[in-house]
Amino acid sequence: MVKRILVWGLGLAAVFGLASVLAVRLEALQEFLSLFLAMNPILPTWLSFDQFLVIVSLAAVLVAMLAVAASVGWWLWMRSGLTLAQHRETAQARAVHLAMDQLRAGAQQEYDRLIRLGETLTQKLEKRALLQHLVQAAGQITSLPHADSAVALWAMDLGTERMCFEFGLRCDESWFTRQQFELGEPPFPKLFSSQQPLRFPSWDAGFPFVKPEKLSALGQATGLILVPLIIEKTVLGCLVMFCHPDVLAGYEQREGFFRAAWGQCALALAIAIQGDLAIRDRLTGLVNQTYFLKRLEQEIDRSNRYRVPLGLLMLDIDNFKAVNDTLGHQQGDAVLKIIAKLIQKSVRMMDLVGRYGGEEFIVMLPVTGVAEESGGAQGAAELGERIRLAVEQEFHALQKPLKLTLSVGVVMRRYPEDRQMDVKTLVRLADEQLYRAKTTGKNKCCVYAPGGS
Ligand code: GH3
Ligand code: MG
Ligand code: MG
Repeated sequence: MVKRILVWGLGLAAVFGLASVLAVRLEALQEFLSLFLAMNPILPTWLSFDQFLVIVSLAAVLVAMLAVAASVGWWLWMRSGLTLAQHRETAQARAVHLAMDQLRAGAQQEYDRLIRLGETLTQKLEKRALLQHLVQAAGQITSLPHADSAVALWAMDLGTERMCFEFGLRCDESWFTRQQFELGEPPFPKLFSSQQPLRFPSWDAGFPFVKPEKLSALGQATGLILVPLIIEKTVLGCLVMFCHPDVLAGYEQREGFFRAAWGQCALALAIAIQGDLAIRDRLTGLVNQTYFLKRLEQEIDRSNRYRVPLGLLMLDIDNFKAVNDTLGHQQGDAVLKIIAKLIQKSVRMMDLVGRYGGEEFIVMLPVTGVAEESGGAQGAAELGERIRLAVEQEFHALQKPLKLTLSVGVVMRRYPEDRQMDVKTLVRLADEQLYRAKTTGKNKCCVYAPGGS
């Protein structure tokens, strides 16, 4: 536009300039003479017409120069204004591009995170592993590069209908003043009636059950997000996440992403609970025989692959029928639960305890006896003896002492000597030792001796 005005202006100036030159040639002298005569009364007497012409010419040149300078100045000013506007426009366009790029990168990052979340949650279907992945995923989603969030997963216990602490990331159950909640206790009613995540600028406003001495570990993660995990309007659990206040501030902007992530977490929890129901005995909470034998088979393969021994215990409550007969079936159930807990408490995290049948239990001890000569059974036998003693003492210490004892059969699958031994043989050998304990006085631990009796 400005360029066009300049071109037109210069064209007109050229036309006028040409016209003036012609005018000067023909009439200018006449005109100047008349002007000189007209101005004569006010001009000094010494000024001749030639001098008058020189002065007028100089004045004309000066005016022309001023006009040129003004035009150049105006042109430069217009140009600088133009470039400033152009710069401003370019900067704005660049800022829009940058913002678009950032948005695109953010969306891509969220998309990647959702894919990774799906991958993580489908890696393992075993309950503990699945829940561990779930809290890790929730932690990643709510962490910032400079502030990791702490996540606690609370899940519904179908037996007691209570919300129980299940798993923690950067926190554990010792962090909280309570490990169980009734569903009617705050903050759960509000959380479940709204069926929406709740956000609080500080943890104590929403979930004031953190022990004060643990607070320093929260660092900058002082905000709180509570997410209900609900499937088909059934409350399965709740994520309690301590995170940086910036995560709360940007929550609404990324709400769609969060909603998708929490949906996946709820599904994962449902799968964990369903899967767990299928493999667990409802009374004791231990894994059932089918699952145990499947795991034992896998463990035998692993023992061969890693060339390590594997221990197996079979335990049976002595004279349990008498407990039912004298105290009743309900008391019998309570005893079964107590013994299951005692066994579970006596073993390592990596060991697996199962309910093999009515009042029979089975324990798998991977990588046991490695340090012993030729994979000896001493470690496994010691554990069997420890469990036997723990049960005996537990019921002996009651106000009305009960004679409740266990018989235990122990077998060690050595490597390489027993590398051909399959599940059936291993269980049979343990069962034989249990039978030996039963037939030689009960309340004892009998160990399989390879090649001997
Ligand atoms: P032994 O010392 O030879 O093992 O004798 P026992 O009485 O323990 O063994 P027996 O096989 O004669 O009886 C097992 C009893 O366990 C019979 C059954 O009623 C009881 N039982 C099995 N499952 C359950 C259960 O889930 N709850 C209760 N309360 N009792 C059960
Ligand atoms: Mg028995
Ligand atoms: Mg039995």
